[in-house]
Amino acid sequence: MKHLILLEILTGADTWTSESQPMSALARIQADPRTKEVCNEGEDGWWVMLADGYCWPEGQTHAIHERTLKAVWRELRTVRLCHCSECKILNTHDL
Ligand SMILES: [Zn+2]
Repeated sequence: MKHLILLEILTGADTWTSESQPMSALARIQADPRTKEVCNEGEDGWWVMLADGYCWPEGQTHAIHERTLKAVWRELRTVRLCHCSECKILNTHDL
């Protein structure tokens, strides 16, 4: 039992330190509370599904679509609380 726990800690620590850049654009995007999911569409670039209750003002959508992670990160900072009927319910505590 003890060995299993130790193994989990060790493997966890390993994946943590294997990041070549500790805070890459992708890591920053994934760590942002407004991000729900990041998808790489290859040639099409990147999709970021936004967390519940947020929208991307530029596209008026609940996801960001950009060609590069740098652009995604720039756009992610413009993401605001959404007031569409779907999100209104989720955001009532912020009004
Ligand atoms: Zn919404």
